[in-house]
Amino acid sequence: MDPEPWTLIYDEYNPNQEGQQEALCTLGNGYFATRGAAEESTANKIHYPGTYIAGGYNRLKSEVKGKIIENEDFVNWPNWLVLSFRHEEGEWLDLDKMQIIEYEKRLNFQEGVLERNFIVEDGHKRRTQVKTRRIVHMSHEHLAAIHWKIKPLNWQGKLIIHSALDGRVINNGVPRYRDLKGQHLIPLTTGKFGDRGIFLKVKTNQSEITMAQAAITDLFSDGHEVAFHRKVDQQEGYIGENLSLEVEEQREYRLEKTVAIFTSRDRAISEPVIEAQKEVERAPRFATLKEWQKETWQTYWRRCDIDIESKDPQDQLLLRLHIFHLLQTVSKKNIDLDAGVPPRGLHGEAYRGHIFWDELFIFPFMNFSVPEITRSLLMYRYRRMDEARQMAKEAGYEGAMFPWQSGSNGREESQVIHLNPQSGNWIPDNTYLQRHVNGAIAYNIWQYYQITEDYEFLSFYGAEMLLEIAKFWASKVTYNENRKRYEIHHVVGPDEYHTKYPGSDEPGLNNNAYTNVMASWTLYAAQKALNVLDDRRREEVLSYTGLSEDDVQHWREIDHNMFVPITNEGIILQFEGWDILEELDWERYHREYGEILRLDRILEKEGDSTNKYQASKQADVLMLFYLFSSEALEKQFNNMSYAFSPEWIPKNIHYYTKRTAHGSTLSKMVHSWVLARENRERSWHNFAKALVSDFNDIQGGTTEEGIHLGAMGGTIDLIQRCYTGIEYREDTLWFNPRLPEHLECINFRLRYRSRWIKVEVNRKQLKLACDGGREVPVQLKVKDAECTLQMGDTKVFELKDGQAENDGSEDSSSGGGSKSDKGKQAESN
Ligand code: BGC
Repeated sequence: MDPEPWTLIYDEYNPNQEGQQEALCTLGNGYFATRGAAEESTANKIHYPGTYIAGGYNRLKSEVKGKIIENEDFVNWPNWLVLSFRHEEGEWLDLDKMQIIEYEKRLNFQEGVLERNFIVEDGHKRRTQVKTRRIVHMSHEHLAAIHWKIKPLNWQGKLIIHSALDGRVINNGVPRYRDLKGQHLIPLTTGKFGDRGIFLKVKTNQSEITMAQAAITDLFSDGHEVAFHRKVDQQEGYIGENLSLEVEEQREYRLEKTVAIFTSRDRAISEPVIEAQKEVERAPRFATLKEWQKETWQTYWRRCDIDIESKDPQDQLLLRLHIFHLLQTVSKKNIDLDAGVPPRGLHGEAYRGHIFWDELFIFPFMNFSVPEITRSLLMYRYRRMDEARQMAKEAGYEGAMFPWQSGSNGREESQVIHLNPQSGNWIPDNTYLQRHVNGAIAYNIWQYYQITEDYEFLSFYGAEMLLEIAKFWASKVTYNENRKRYEIHHVVGPDEYHTKYPGSDEPGLNNNAYTNVMASWTLYAAQKALNVLDDRRREEVLSYTGLSEDDVQHWREIDHNMFVPITNEGIILQFEGWDILEELDWERYHREYGEILRLDRILEKEGDSTNKYQASKQADVLMLFYLFSSEALEKQFNNMSYAFSPEWIPKNIHYYTKRTAHGSTLSKMVHSWVLARENRERSWHNFAKALVSDFNDIQGGTTEEGIHLGAMGGTIDLIQRCYTGIEYREDTLWFNPRLPEHLECINFRLRYRSRWIKVEVNRKQLKLACDGGREVPVQLKVKDAECTLQMGDTKVFELKDGQAENDGSEDSSSGGGSKSDKGKQAESN
């Protein structure tokens, strides 16, 4: 690890970890990303070079068990990396076959550069030193570049370098999908341009997205171009060139490959090949590109860095790694691309790049750093509202029902069957019934508005989405005469281990507590949004969505009377009937299998099913304590006409912690959050687990298929919002820090309603400074102390052992704040 925690360093070549490292060393810019595979590698058991573009989907039909199924995939686009060399009579560079004398790989996220430095020896004892640098440009999103230094250490003679663009690639990155078709690209043309350029054009065979790549490869030595011979090698879907030159022992040769990528999805273009050629010809040398790259990243880091002092310095490194990957997936360059946030980043093919609910865990950080990105990602949903309306209609509902998995046009992309790699069985997949994704979209809209006060967005787009989702929930509920309550049937909650009742053929469950609360909350939020709108807009939006004031009145009736299954002891049941499921013999399974993250696969292999047991894949009920503070939840439950007691929170945490397998990387992160107020030590323990999800590949082999962006976003948010106790409600920014033992301080800058606020929390004090943006005071509440923060103000609040002063005992409220403790403002200027 780097003493300056900005660089991920691997100091030995480990073929077994190469897949994971490729995902973790991916470079991207929100427009496209390329895995950190070695330039000289080709897809095989060890390596998987992959390039993905935001919104780059294609559908294919495959036959499985006699049935035709259609999947929309995240296309693996042509490999632009291809670069290798050999001595005239030697083999091509191959770290898996040659002797490695020295090796080091470094991902520098301060500057956005991937480096490798190594010395290899071929079968004839020829030693060569190689230093590689790679960038995918953050400000020139169509450009990427590679720089190699090659030094023959003990030989001289003819060196042959191969540089190519390879369009013969297929989707083959996820072993579980290999029985399905993976050939998405049709080669169109290849050719040369100018004196030095080569290009390639391909098209997807269903979505008809064309991509052009153009590359220029040059050679230098001692700062000057060197004499070499260029020979083009053209095959269908592939264009390469061999550059041959005489090299001297101990002399360094410099190679630069600059590549431009354009697709038919781009705006302001003539045609992808023309644009790619133009862009690469205009590009400056590598050194300049790298300088620009550094400047762009500096701008991002000034805005987005979170500086912490933790007992383990690795925490800082991984936190920055997570910020880095988040920004590489959804940067400024992603704005207006009409793409969502794929939960596995632009880093691999897992989940086929589909858009789930994971943005719920990612948007909070974006809202505070680059809210324009959240807005653009919410527009991805807005543009797919007609499809969501159609889905609701076809299912017999009203309004808009967004799909669990969304891709190109917003239809439901969830797979119909999935493979259990442990048993080899294909199993029906009913997780598409996760209607709670609609609650997440509504929640995200309202949070975005709370932080930005972007009235135009709310009035023009957000309110319409909120109303359509509310309309859907209002049509989805059924009234139970006996209970005198509204219920929601036939759904699946966040816990994907439960998709139907044991013994039933019918998928779906009744009254998933999380779904019901989110539905009630959405109905309430839609009314609040309507009240924010001016009269004309209110009328327009109501008329556009076909709603009357009576309908809105009816929503009030529903949200006040939503049913939530709660036991007399205050345990919120995950769904109705949960309590009569069998208890799992957790000890036995742990004994037999160790980690049982994928308990569903283990049980299915045994001919059993998780549906039978009180065993969750991930936080479900606990999601409520994650999304809402104790106060907000109390209000929400009171609104649903339930008396809520804050004591329920620790009770439910304990109850569900014992019954959760953490089969999703989201789970530990949510558990960490909900424990933050009750038990700092255990919260940190879960945080630390979530933080290393990808770094240690805790799910045993899933990171190589793509990083887990929800967990990455969630861990950033834990530091930024949870441990500082930030909330935004009632036009006020609330702080209620509670630093875990392991953290000495947290420093960052946030953007709140167009103001910049510098936040510094340590064990003794919380310091807030407003140092830029709109000159309107910010309403603050630190614990119970209220004040305003004017432009230029710095306010300091005393803390006792990293928390706003209280009696020192751990209390039971969740992430957002505690009711009774007194905050103390020490100094204000
Ligand atoms: C989780 C979902 C999540 C999806 C994509 C699944 O394993 O259960 O909650 O949305 O992964 O990250």
